Order: sequence, then structure tokens, then C-alpha cells
Amino acid sequence: MTAPRPITILGSTGSVGRSTLDLIERQPDRWQVQALTANSDVAMLAAQAKRLRPDVAVVADDGAYAALKEALAGTGIEAAAGKDALAEAADRPADWVMAAIVGAAGLEPTLRAVARGATVALANKETLVCAGDLVTRTAGRTGARLLPVDSEHNAIFQVFDFDNPARVERVILTASGGPFRGLSYEAMRHVTPEQAVAHPIWSMGAKISVDSATLMNKGLELIEAKHLFPVSVEQLAVIVHPQSVVHSFVEYIDGSVLAQLGTPDMRTPIAYALAWPERIATPCRRLDLVEIAKLEFEAPDPVRFPALNLAWAALRQGGSAPAVLNAANEEAVAAFLARRIGFLDIAAIVGETLDGMATAPTTSLEDVIAVDRDARRKARALIAARTH
Ligand code: NAD
Ligand code: MG
Repeated sequence: MTAPRPITILGSTGSVGRSTLDLIERQPDRWQVQALTANSDVAMLAAQAKRLRPDVAVVADDGAYAALKEALAGTGIEAAAGKDALAEAADRPADWVMAAIVGAAGLEPTLRAVARGATVALANKETLVCAGDLVTRTAGRTGARLLPVDSEHNAIFQVFDFDNPARVERVILTASGGPFRGLSYEAMRHVTPEQAVAHPIWSMGAKISVDSATLMNKGLELIEAKHLFPVSVEQLAVIVHPQSVVHSFVEYIDGSVLAQLGTPDMRTPIAYALAWPERIATPCRRLDLVEIAKLEFEAPDPVRFPALNLAWAALRQGGSAPAVLNAANEEAVAAFLARRIGFLDIAAIVGETLDGMATAPTTSLEDVIAVDRDARRKARALIAARTH
């Protein structure tokens, strides 16, 4: 029997984190968990730690330290808190790291894992959106391997001919269209956070659910794809596919189109990343195409879903623009979830923030952090102006 593989899960209490633990706990002898991390949910993190016995459990929120330490007292599991502890957890020598923190908060710990050459299963798309060049350059230097977990990118990864990228003509990302696919622009003015997070197909965290409803999620994924695959912006496309069964397409120069299909369950792409280059069994429901009977496809509507065009523009602009797009979007989504602004304000605020900031090159982590901070400040001012 081979020795268990040392692994770390950043963001273990989230939707992707919990799905990852579900797979790990089905074959506990294959893995040895080194670190689990969360933002502030001590109860869930401590419960996970007691089951999986990591060396350390970390909460990002300093204020939650005492509660975590108490919850883990007598277990022999180290408790830690704060941003530095999070980065230190990513530094521990686990050779496989799941990056499943949501938002730009995941950038530094993810980059730490990449900088020491780990295999990084990347769910946290915001990391590549705001610092894609930095992350891929660092991976090139250290030999870290990025395994895409986002279902679309995982699908593309499975069918992309990396040995012959010149044979690829287009990469086509599928989008479910979200819960408001059939709604008029006017009707979207009045939708609530509850309606926006109730995704028709996927069960996910609140932030990505709102992103799916605005289609910003697909915009972020276009930028993510540009960093993960050797293609030009012109070779990327988006198609709406409400059933979310085809997880993306790669079209070749001879007209062949390859796709990866499956029921919409994140455990399939997570399992692929966990076992790569092998495969492991999952309990995911098997695809029954006769039962589904019909697969539909339509073009995305740029008028009702302006966020997608904002992302296209930021991608073409390059430099700091994607980081500005991401930071403004995180602020706007948080304000929408807090009922401070309406649904249509999200894209409006992202657009105004992009318009109000010059594009600059971002080469270092410090550059990215500064752009992120400035864009958030600008977006918050725009949000405040709308709420008064
Ligand atoms: P989630 O909100 O369910 O979980 C987020 C995790 O990050 C939690 O463990 C939380 O404690 C932690 N976290 C939040 N803020 C933090 C902070 N400031 N510092 C440290 N940790 C923090 O999110 P999710 O749906 O699991 O998504 C995670 C990432 O994966 C996102 O980037 C998302 O876009 C991506 N993703 C998710 C899905 C999905 O099905 N849920 C699919 C594709 C990609
Ligand atoms: Mg996705």
C-alpha cells in the first residue's frame, strides 16, 4: 500500500471545501490532511478537524481564535488564527492543496502554495482573475501544477490537446444562465438576494451564486480560461446551456468538437483534481440522457446581462483591469446581499469603477493588492452614493 498523500484544504467549510471532504472521507486511508482553514465558522471547522485529524486548523478571523482553541482543546490539533496563519498553513509541505477560499482573500494563501511548487486544485477563480500572470509565472518557475476545479475549466482540461495547442480553434465555455435567464431587464430590478442565490442547477456559496445570476461568473471564468489554457482572447466564446450537462467544449481545426459531460455535481471535477492523473470513483448521480431528453443552447444576452461584456472588456484591456473588475464586483455583490443596492446596480457599479480607474501594469503581489484596495475604495464610494 502506498503512503497516504499529504493534503491541505483552504476554505474547507465552504461548498467546494465540504464536497472535497466528502470525497476524502470516503477513502480516508489515501490522504493525510495537514491543514483545514475557514473564515470564522469555528463550529464547522472544529467538527471537520475532529473527523479528519489535521495538524492544524486555521480561522482567518482573529476574533475567532479563542473559540477555536477551546473547541480543539485536548485533541492535539493546533489552532491558529489570522492572515499570517492562513499563509503559513498553505506553506506547510502538503503536496496537494485545494484552493477553495472565495474571493481575492484566497490570493495570498494560494500563491504561497504555488510558490513552493505544490499541486494546486484551483476552485478560487478570483485568484487567477486578479493575479493570473503572477500566479502562472510563479507556477512556471516552481513547477507547481494548477489543476482547474471550476467545472468548465476542468472539462476543458480533460479534452484540451496541450501537446498540440495550434490544433485548437476555439474554447467554448457553457453557462447555465442562472435563475434570471428568462426574466426581463425591468423585472431584474426588483429581484431579492434570496432569489439570486437560489440557483436552478448548482448548489454553491452565496457570492458565486449571485455571480451566476449576473453572468459575471462566466466573465470571471473567461479571464480564468485565458490564464489556464494557451489560447487567445479571440478563441474564447460563451454559450448558455440551461441543463448544465455539457461542462464546456473544445473545437479543433478539423471541425471536431470535444466536450466533457456529467450531472452537475462539483464532486466530479474535484475528484478529477484529487486523483489526477488517475481517476477515482465518486457517488455522483450518473448522467441519464434519455431522462434529460433535451439539451438546449442559446447565445448570452448582452443587454440583460451587461456584466459579461464588462469582463470581456477587462480581459481585452489586461493589466490591472481584471483585478479592478473583480474587486468592484466583490464589493457590489456584498452590498447587494446586504440589501444596500439592487441587483442591476451590481454591474453598474463594476462598470463605473472600471471607467474611473486607469489601467496599470500589475507585476507583483504588492501591485495587485494596491489595485484591489483602490478599486474597493472606489466601488464603496459608488455604493454609498447609491444608498443615500
Ligand atoms: P463558500 O462561500 O461556500 O465558501 C468559501 C470558503 O472560504 C469558506 O470555507 C469560508 O470560510 C472561506 N472564506 C471566506 N472568506 C474568507 C476570508 N476572508 N479569508 C479566509 N477564508 C475565507 O464558497 P464556494 O461556493 O465553496 O466557492 C469557493 C470558490 O470556488 C469561489 O472562488 C468560487 O467561485 C469557486 N467555485 C465554486 C463552485 C461551487 O460549486 N461552489 C464552483 C466553481 C468554482
Ligand atoms: Mg464554473
